Amino acid sequence: MNMHSDSSFSASRRLRFNRATLASQQRDGGKPVLVGIDREALSLNVGIIRRRLGARGLCAVLKGDAYGHGIDLVGSCLLDQCTHMAAVDNYELVALRKMAPNTPLLRLRVGTEAEISQAARAGWRIREMAASRDKIERISRLHAHFGARAEIHLTLDAAGLGRNGFFFRDLDDIDVLARDIMAMPNVTVASIACHLPDAGNADPSDRDDPSRVAIDKFRAAVSVLLRHMRENGRKLPELSAYSSASSCAFGQSDSLLDLGCAVFDRIGSSLLGLTEGNGHGERNTSQVMHVSTAVCDVVHRQVGETVGYERSYAVEAANGEDVALLGAGWLTLSRYQQGIGKTELPAWCIGPDGSPHRFLGRQSMNISTIAAKSARGGNLKTGDMCFLTTDFHGTDCAPTIPRIAKWMGGVQHEFVTSAFGASPSSLRFLF
Ligand SMILES: *Cc1c(COP(=O)(O)O)cnc(C)c1O
Repeated sequence: MNMHSDSSFSASRRLRFNRATLASQQRDGGKPVLVGIDREALSLNVGIIRRRLGARGLCAVLKGDAYGHGIDLVGSCLLDQCTHMAAVDNYELVALRKMAPNTPLLRLRVGTEAEISQAARAGWRIREMAASRDKIERISRLHAHFGARAEIHLTLDAAGLGRNGFFFRDLDDIDVLARDIMAMPNVTVASIACHLPDAGNADPSDRDDPSRVAIDKFRAAVSVLLRHMRENGRKLPELSAYSSASSCAFGQSDSLLDLGCAVFDRIGSSLLGLTEGNGHGERNTSQVMHVSTAVCDVVHRQVGETVGYERSYAVEAANGEDVALLGAGWLTLSRYQQGIGKTELPAWCIGPDGSPHRFLGRQSMNISTIAAKSARGGNLKTGDMCFLTTDFHGTDCAPTIPRIAKWMGGVQHEFVTSAFGASPSSLRFLF
């Protein structure tokens, strides 16, 4: 029995979610999947993270429409809580700029020419990620065209991610880059960053841990850049090395704090309570998104009749059995997950009274079949709202996103959340 994960969806929260679900449905009904964003959980998570960050700033990472939670909903709750905000696509960045006129906004991927130019023309003041000399020069020109300064979030590939950072063999490469940047008239390097992809599995006490080696390499490269910036009388940049897992693993012994620059951590998953189960997750945070769906009908099946693909479930009770039909299958929950549901799922549906109902047989894209009666005597009726979960051990029945991710087959939890959120079948609301 795991009381911890159950606390992420306590009875009182379930009740609040239930009420909000009914209210949103009445106001704006018609969608089968209801996705509630729990403001209280979000604000508690932010408090936990900020306490641990200490002197470091908090950059809220809200890419992927805030990992499917809704950038409008989550962004407005976080406005006053973070020093920076980051996203990827222009529709996200402009939504953030409108709600936060003065917060530094970062694009956490190298932008396309069209994106950068649109942002520069509109004056959104986006700190553009760049990972090569040529890209910095392009960003500089695109801004100069509109008479604007280019703010750069310079990323260094210290950990061999080979994706978003400037690749350097040695510090001479950094020296050359620094000279080139200093020669560009309208460029400000506002921050320097690296990304540690394996920090979730790191041993922070091991000097040879690959993430530790990458931090040291980053630090050495930053020192070269800082020397050039000081010599040229430039304002010193901010530094940022950590996302959720690496922040928990290495942030305690932060070797960047003594370089004389402001430092901030880039936190996405942990804000949304998605890392609690990881090796280096943010402890005591709880899931912000809850998913609910409705019983559309209850049908009676006689003994010997079957339910689901390939006659996978046969009714054995002499008096037959009631089968509840949920208005959501895997297509509804996520357009990307079609077909996955045609398996026997280790899944449960939690009824309005908190009791678990079994999934009967193999499930499909557009509908789920559930035992209307639970072992505890719960009885689903048409119109009831249910929670979906993958695991049920005693009280450990909270429908957590990591569990749903496990159920779907080892996908990233943020992929699962964006799948729920992005589905045109879902209605998202704050509660
Ligand atoms: C997504 C992302 C983050 C946030 O990562 P989490 O693990 O979700 O906290 C940080 N930095 C960059 C560059 C990212 O793309």
